[in-house]
Amino acid sequence: MSRLLSPLEALCALDAGGRGIGRLVLPGAMAAAARSLLTARRVVLVTGFVPRPDWAAETDGPSGTVVLGRALRRLGATVAYLVDPPVRPLVRACLRALGEPRDLVAVSGVSATATAPGLEAVRDLRPTHLVAVERPGRAADGGYYNARGRSVAALNAPFDTLFLERPRGAVTIGVGDGGNEIGMGRVRGRVARDVPRGRRIGSVVRTDHLIVAGTSNWGAWGLVAHLALLAGRDLLHTPDEEARLTRAMVAAGGVDGLTGERRLSVDRLPVAVHRALLGTLRELTIHLMARRAAIPRAGEQETA
Ligand code: MG
Ligand code: MG
Repeated sequence: MSRLLSPLEALCALDAGGRGIGRLVLPGAMAAAARSLLTARRVVLVTGFVPRPDWAAETDGPSGTVVLGRALRRLGATVAYLVDPPVRPLVRACLRALGEPRDLVAVSGVSATATAPGLEAVRDLRPTHLVAVERPGRAADGGYYNARGRSVAALNAPFDTLFLERPRGAVTIGVGDGGNEIGMGRVRGRVARDVPRGRRIGSVVRTDHLIVAGTSNWGAWGLVAHLALLAGRDLLHTPDEEARLTRAMVAAGGVDGLTGERRLSVDRLPVAVHRALLGTLRELTIHLMARRAAIPRAGEQETA
């Protein structure tokens, strides 16, 4: 019998865009990943997806990553972001929108070669945890693909190399919503079967923990919600902050990853939908914190 999703996981896994991601979700993964992140000391966060050569970086990924980075920093971890040049303005805009230190953006360098310039700098940070949020992961043929099956290898540096190397045994966490992201190797068979063009685009890159959500930002929020429960602290951002983050990304040039439009939307969902989901997630988290009964017990962890 399959395990149940936690209430927070179920909310974040809402398939509002009708993309069929439901079967990819691993129940208990959010809580297990959060338990590991709770004691993280040095975290490298990787995000950013440029879906087409004629498009800018998309709005799914950077804001959720910065919300997660802020939570981890508040919990005492050292945080660094690894991004490509086109994504850098979006992450910086998000950091500014939340009043976070902007010198946190560490390294970047888009490259079609196997050795992106930022990777060496990340290895030097000796991360205890590597987290990828909406980041292309290589497919079975070694290529990198957008949801339509077009190559994005020339547009996004191969940061998945880090996750395959696992420097010094760092714990790896992947967050995705389409099957083509870092971490989806955990459910590759299901991606091949249930996602359009899944056999071609599905990533083979596995992570210790895999979070699948309605949008990747929601997956990052879910991790923060679980961290809040574990730490007994209010770590999630507010719907107003979410609107500010989206405005900041669009002002920095970000586009909707499914339409390419420079609008206040993420994955074709208007900011009002994201605000509403976040509001519910916040209230539910506060409710569960009060009950102190939300985290699945040991033994109810994910399976793949
Ligand atoms: Mg995606
Ligand atoms: Mg997305």
